[in-house]
Amino acid sequence: MAAHPAISPNRVAVITGAASGIGLATAKQLARLGMRVCLADRDADVLKRSAAEVAEIAGDLTNVLSVPTDVSRREEVERLKDAAITTFGEVGFVMNNAGVEGRGQIFGDPERWKATLDTNLWGVIHGVQVFGPVMAEQGTPGAIVNTGSKQGITTPPGDTAYNVSKAGVKVVTEALAHELRNRPNCQVTAHLLIPGFVYTGFTKARGVTEKPEGAWSPDQVAATLLAGMARGDFYILCPDNETTPEMDRKRIRWAA
Ligand code: NAD
Repeated sequence: MAAHPAISPNRVAVITGAASGIGLATAKQLARLGMRVCLADRDADVLKRSAAEVAEIAGDLTNVLSVPTDVSRREEVERLKDAAITTFGEVGFVMNNAGVEGRGQIFGDPERWKATLDTNLWGVIHGVQVFGPVMAEQGTPGAIVNTGSKQGITTPPGDTAYNVSKAGVKVVTEALAHELRNRPNCQVTAHLLIPGFVYTGFTKARGVTEKPEGAWSPDQVAATLLAGMARGDFYILCPDNETTPEMDRKRIRWAA
């Protein structure tokens, strides 16, 4: 299967939340394909180490850039875009992937809600608004991937701030796809990555210290993303085998 046209040697990928987990696995797979990769994360120390791992795969230090970025801050996302374009001259692929776990109950702490929405939803909105118009105007093939979640669709009770943030990412990505499809001569596609349970630092932060049966690895998610983009899929599902009666009722779209 031919890759998505934006996924090709020497094209430029920008990935947020790239210091670990799904973002880092995607960065490594793109480096293996010969892409130039710009990694962004708010954890500057881990980002530095992760960028070094990606550079080793790329085999050429000049093909990898790391930019410490807090995606909840618009000016930092603008700076990320400027750094990628100044260094590499273009952007072919953007993955708005940075995310935090929420645990915001419906009557829960508003500060916790705000922190969840600021990264998970506003981070994606900033990425879409900062990179989208630039990529659309480049006149070359491009792709924007936003990382949603199964929980943005199944919305299980008890984790409401996170569910709201990821349901919002779904809506934003659908609107982005509509906008890009209707722009004359625009060759940029939008995709919603919908991971189920993936064993990463994120799930460890939720107290899961061993990879449960049925959980995906970040590498599996990255490979599924690239295959889905190659097929031209909008929704790219990574289904796990976790089910609850509540989720089952809402599984219509989620079922693999
Ligand atoms: P992870 O914790 O390994 O990676 C998330 C990265 O985002 C971390 O490196 C973190 O430092 C970074 N980050 C957090 N807030 C940031 C901010 N404001 N600005 C920049 N970087 C920030 O977790 P992961 O599982 O790889 O998560 C990646 C994405 O996948 C997230 O959006 C998450 O919601 C989503 N997701 C994960 C799972 C799962 O089970 N792991 C399931 C569904 C969706």
